Amino acid sequence: MTAAAAAETAQPRTERLVHAVNVTKSFHHNEVLKGIDLDVDRGQVVCLLGPSGSGKTTFLRCINQLETIDGGRIWVDGRLMGYDDRDGRLYRLKNKQIAAQRREIGMVFQRFNLFPHMTAIENVMEAPVQVKGEGKKESRVRAQALLDRVGLGDRCTAYPAQLSGGQQQRVAIARALAMQPKLMLFDEPTSALDPELVGEVLAVIRELADEGMTMIVVTHEMSFARDVADTVVFMDAGVVVEAGRPREVLGNPQHQRTKTFLTRLH
Ligand code: ADP
Repeated sequence: MTAAAAAETAQPRTERLVHAVNVTKSFHHNEVLKGIDLDVDRGQVVCLLGPSGSGKTTFLRCINQLETIDGGRIWVDGRLMGYDDRDGRLYRLKNKQIAAQRREIGMVFQRFNLFPHMTAIENVMEAPVQVKGEGKKESRVRAQALLDRVGLGDRCTAYPAQLSGGQQQRVAIARALAMQPKLMLFDEPTSALDPELVGEVLAVIRELADEGMTMIVVTHEMSFARDVADTVVFMDAGVVVEAGRPREVLGNPQHQRTKTFLTRLH
């Protein structure tokens, strides 16, 4: 990229970490995102709520470049995601450049997706060693600290199959943190767990929030959203229906669609 292009692509460094404008995405003829706007400041926690099929996962995947957007723009930390913006036109970045952008964003999925043949600590060390070229010794020390942080310091040598779902998800969180992301995306991180294991995972996410990690969390856990989110965003059928402080959106929703959704949860 030329310096001039970089200047055009870059936004001034502000409190804002994520800036998404008019994001659209279709699968075949199904328009799943119909012009989503979202701003997330550094250190903020945004919870995305909404009925199944409303586009929440797709939007997270667009932020992380796992999906290519059809229209709109997404900046993370001032950098346009997936594209270079030159002469008023968008040029798709090369896969290598996209991979570099993606490395700055941690993502935790519904299913934990750990490597089954690796121990907990090996799972956490994998990306720093393979992708960043970090030394094994250094990486092991950091991975141990991360597993301590998610309360699994004593399970480093366990294989995923020997861990509960909640423990596996906590390893997955440690693995995402190992890449020192600027932003964490959580896609229904507790929905595949037995109810008694949900709390331990939410507690880890809550601690991360307290430590100032910027995150976007797709969740159906309303009490978590109420307590932890700075902003909740209610989506339905590919649009943001309303967004605001949890107390406002959850306690006093303005739109019928939000009211109906919240009533159904009770
Ligand atoms: P949510 O996370 O709110 O449940 P999703 O983003 O998972 O919603 O899905 C929104 C819509 O997009 C659904 O109708 C879903 O079937 C569709 N969809 C998601 N991913 C794909 C895909 N890879 N191919 C085709 N359709 C998809």
